[in-house]
Order: sequence, then structure tokens, then C-alpha cells
Amino acid sequence: MSARLLALKTSDRPALRFGAGTLTYEELARAAGALAPRLRAAGRVAVWATPTAETAVGVVAALFAGVPAVPLNPRIGERELAHILGDSAPGAVLAAAGDELPTGLAELPRIDVDVRATGPYADGDTYAEEPVDPETPALIVYTSGTTGPPKGVLLSHRAIAASLDALAAAWAWTEDDVLVHGLPLFHVHGLVLGVLGPLRRGGEVRHLGGFSVEGVAKELGEGGGTMLFGVPTMYHRIAEALPHDPALVRALTAARLLVSGSAALPVHDHERITAATGRTVVERYGMTETLMNTSVPVGSGPRPGSVGLPLDGVELRLVEEDGSVLPVADGETVGEIQVRGPNLFTAYLNRPDATAAAFAEGGWFRTGDMAVREPDGYVRIVGRKATDLIKSGGYKIGAGEIENALLDHPGVREAAVTGEPDPDLGERIVAWIVPTDPTAPPAPGPLADHVATLLAPHKRPREVRYLDALPRNDMGKILKKALREPTDG
Ligand code: ATP
Ligand code: MG
Repeated sequence: MSARLLALKTSDRPALRFGAGTLTYEELARAAGALAPRLRAAGRVAVWATPTAETAVGVVAALFAGVPAVPLNPRIGERELAHILGDSAPGAVLAAAGDELPTGLAELPRIDVDVRATGPYADGDTYAEEPVDPETPALIVYTSGTTGPPKGVLLSHRAIAASLDALAAAWAWTEDDVLVHGLPLFHVHGLVLGVLGPLRRGGEVRHLGGFSVEGVAKELGEGGGTMLFGVPTMYHRIAEALPHDPALVRALTAARLLVSGSAALPVHDHERITAATGRTVVERYGMTETLMNTSVPVGSGPRPGSVGLPLDGVELRLVEEDGSVLPVADGETVGEIQVRGPNLFTAYLNRPDATAAAFAEGGWFRTGDMAVREPDGYVRIVGRKATDLIKSGGYKIGAGEIENALLDHPGVREAAVTGEPDPDLGERIVAWIVPTDPTAPPAPGPLADHVATLLAPHKRPREVRYLDALPRNDMGKILKKALREPTDG
């Protein structure tokens, strides 16, 4: 592993393509190199993380300067912005010229990113960031806020480099890869994997501006793209479009690698993609705090519903409620995933309490995700401890498998499962569904029978509620808290 997170080869190979504009590695090194000296005084810089080359150049400049970057969702709400600015106290904000910044951010010293600036770069054929202690934070990324207010996660140069190298080994990821990218740039998935990943390898990022099935069909495969990174909502849209889009079938068939992460990929969508293209979607599992933990090995054949095996350097164990480590992988017993390795974050910003609570003895990070391990070691996530583990009639039931069973029903387009207090069962299983045809939704009885037949009688939903859409965040993650505590905000 290189001691530096980024050592850019200053060649005329393409590094970043956003829409029509391309920056070669030399241009990227010059633009980031011109900007870096202006960031050193800031201490920390906020980055107004639109899906543009300006965001990528701004983050690379911050890495060059050894100044932690705090990427911000450009659709952020007032309250969340105030929370993040108060918490991270950036000394300046990076934005593209012309970007309008909201109150709170507009008051900070502003530095416009010029992607065509031509600063000097070091002699020789590489441009690297200033030598920084590898433990220095490179990024402060806020968690998605799926389960509570977002927490600022300090990610060191070391952790990011280690995780990207483990992915490169697992995915045979090289400088010849061209990543087709349609994700936002303010989370680990879009920014660390989607931008820093290709740049560390020396390959190309081709950003679609935003996700579209048409963009994927055009850029992947014959269009030159070798890899696609997406979240499950994107693969759902792809699965829906495949039967009547031969260009999309060709694009997916010709791609080297299709990767899904950030939330569970529904088995039904995975199976439809495999049936239409012969391709396996490689599912990987990670989080802001740990970067990437597991991946289905490339070339292992389809394993819908599994997130695969621990990546290089990652130790993983399942732990029961009483703290005992599950001794065998039996494919049945559910435990919390705990991980250890060079990929872990340093701390939550300003939250020594939360940081301490997140670690078990021996430096094991408690992910809060619940899983079983198959006898061959593959990890199958059943849901989050806080929201997806339903204790009903003496059983511990994961919401995920019931959601998969519901999605297998032709009348169900989207599904979420929660537990609600029940005098009899402790908790009862509630299914929230978006029907395929809103004028003819499947009736609760047959839907519950469908689940009970596929899984087991005790996994039968006791109640079915119908919605027009599920509440989701910008990454397409279902917000179960919003389902259970509806507000009008
Ligand atoms: P918060 O921590 O603020 O509640 P969050 O946990 O959603 O938000 P992230 O760090 O962005 O914030 O997401 C990590 C979580 O996403 C994991 O803990 C896990 O629950 C889920 N996740 C990621 N990849 C997968 C996957 N392949 N399958 C199932 N769940 C996944
Ligand atoms: Mg989390």
C-alpha cells in the first residue's frame, strides 16, 4: 500500500469526466495543486458536494493540502446544515463559481474551485499530496442519518487507502477500469469508492450527473465503461427497464463489474437482472465508520441476498446479545456484526461518548447490523438491530427476509417491514407496501399467506398498510423511523 492516499500520475489519461468536460490526470493535478495552498489556513473545509468536477477537484486539493474535507449534501435541509456546521466548524467552503449557498454556509469564507487552473506540479511524473501522517483525517463524512441525527465520522488517509486497496484486490480493479457513476458525492459510496477509488488506481470516473437508466445504457459496455457502482434503487430501476430495453441488456452484459451497496439489494431485483443479462451483481457491505467490510468475490456466481466474505485485512465476527461470540457459522443463528481492521474510522467528531459506546473490548466495532453466516463463511445481513429486528412470539425475525418475500409477489413494487408493540406477541409484524397497480392492490390475507408459505408461519405479517411511496433518503435507503413516527416535516 502506498503511504499516500493519492499519488496522481501526471499523464494525459482521462481522470474525471462529468458531462462533456474531461480532466486528464495532469489537468486534475494542476487544478488541485493550484487550489491546495489556499486551503491550508482553513483547518477544515466544507465542500458543497454537487455531482460535478468541482467537487472532485476540491476534495483532491484538500487531500493535497492535508486539510480534512467535509462534503455536504447540496439538498441539505436548514436544520441538518446548522447541525453539521456547528459540529465540524469549517474555516472555509469550497464551491463552484455561481453556486448559490444557503444561509449559514454563505457566511463562511468562500473559495471557488477552478477546474481549469494550472498550478505547478512536482517534477517527475507524479503529483502527490503533502506528506501527512497517515492517521490525519482526510474526510469528515456524516452518516446517512437513517437511525438518528448524522454523526461526523473522521476517516484517516490510512483507513481510506486500506479499504480501497482491499476492494481493488477483491474486484481486480485496475487503471484500465472506467467507472460509470450516478451517485451523489457526499457519502462514502459516491465519494470514497466512486471518486477516490478510481483516482487511487489511475483509472477513469465517468459521472452521469445523476442516475438514469439511459445514461447507464449509453456509457457502460460498448460506451467504454467497465464498472457500475449503484444503490439498490438504481438496480431496481434497471431491473424494471431490462425487459424492454435491448441497449441496456447489451450494456450490462458487456460490463466487467456491477456492484451494489449502501442497502440490501432485493433478491427479486437481483434475480431479474441475472435472468435478463446472465450477470451477477456483486454485493458489498460497508458503512461510513468502517468503509468496506465484505464483498461477494468476483466470479463466484450469483448469491442473491448475501454480502459475501470479509475483505483483505478485515476481521469479522457475529456476537449474540449476551456478548458471546458465535462459535460456528450455521446459516441460522443471528448475531450483530462486529469488525476490526485497518479500514476503521478514527472517532466520531465531538462525540467521545458515542465513539466509546461503538467499540467492544479488543477494538471491535459494533456495526449495529444483524446477520447470519452460512457454513461457507458468506455473510447474510438480516437487518439493523435498531429497526429491523422484530421480536415476535418468542422469535427474533429479521425484516429483510420478509421484505424479500413480499417483493417476490407480483402485486408488490416496494416493501418495508417493521415491528409494532403487540400485547400478545411482544411485537407484531407490519408490512408496508407500495402496490404495482395502485388500483388493484393485493389483499392483506393472500399477501400474508404468500409470505408464510415462502418462509414460515411465524413470519406472517399481521397487518398490511398501503402507501404511494416509501420514505427514502438521498441514497434510496428506507427511513423506517419515518414510517413508524410519521411527521408532516
Ligand atoms: P446512521 O448511522 O446515521 O443511522 P446509516 O447507517 O444509514 O445512517 P451509512 O453509514 O451511510 O449510514 O450506512 C451504513 C449502513 O448501510 C450499514 O450499517 C448497513 O445497515 C447498510 N448497508 C450498507 N451496505 C449494505 C448491504 N449491502 N446490505 C445491507 N445493508 C447495507
Ligand atoms: Mg449507521
